[in-house]
Formats: sequence, structure tokens, C-alpha cells
Amino acid sequence: MSLDNLRDLYQQVILERYKKPRYRGKTDPVDRYQKGHNPSCGDTIELTVHLNEAGDRIEDVRFEGEGCAIAMASADLMAEAMRGRSVEEALGMIQRFQNMMQGKDEFPHEFRKLNVMQGVSQFPVRIKCATLTWHTLRAALEAATPQPAGFVSNE
Ligand code: ZN
Repeated sequence: MSLDNLRDLYQQVILERYKKPRYRGKTDPVDRYQKGHNPSCGDTIELTVHLNEAGDRIEDVRFEGEGCAIAMASADLMAEAMRGRSVEEALGMIQRFQNMMQGKDEFPHEFRKLNVMQGVSQFPVRIKCATLTWHTLRAALEAATPQPAGFVSNE
């Protein structure tokens, strides 16, 4: 895909997800809760995760919070991609997303929607907006036990 096409798609997807998020809200039940904050932009994300009984697979992820279009769109796209993933797969995807923001990796065809976020890597000050929700999910998944008030800051 040419850079111009990617840029158009990037803007389209981000605006669409920002205006009409599909995964805003809270999971039922809440097996993990994690709050994340990006002080450089003011984005705040509250993630809730519903895991399977064994605790090794994500059934649902929902987000609430306020922030810029990039932070909110990234959260919505992430929530969509994470449904049905094992915790191990999810942690691998989080790492891959961070690598992608440094221009070092991208997602396979199955997750190509996430690749539109590559557009953000052209704007270094906005990378923290895009990665906030991914940092927050990692903290939620790595918590050994459900925690009612986890908090992560990417500063
Ligand atoms: Zn932001």
C-alpha cells in the first residue's frame, strides 16, 4: 500500500472509531480493571477485561475514558483485536504494537486494521497516545490477581 493511501486510511479509521467506538463500556463480569494515563496529552483510559474461567484467555475487553482521537481509536481497535486471544497471544501483540510504533514490525493480514496505526509513528509526540491502551492492557494482564484500582502512567 502506498504511503498516501495508508495516510488516508489512517485518518478515516481513526476518526470513525473515535466518533463511533464499538467497544466502549465495561465488561461483565470485570475480571481485571486497569486505569492508564498519558500526561503528555491528557489521555485517560479505564480498561476492563473479562477472562475465561482458567484465566488464560480474553473473552472481552472494554474501555472508558477521555482523550484524543488517536488514544480512543487505538483502544477501540485493540479491544476488537483482543477478543478470543489467549493471554500469551495478547502479550505478544502488545509487544508487536510497540515495535510497530518504532517502525520495526507490523501485524499479519488477520490483524491488518491495526496496521493503520502505523500512521501515528510519523508523529513522534503522538506515539504515547497510541500505545497508552496497550501499556494499560499489559499491566492488567500481568497483574497476578484481580485488582480493584490498578493505575499505570506511561510518563
Ligand atoms: Zn492523546
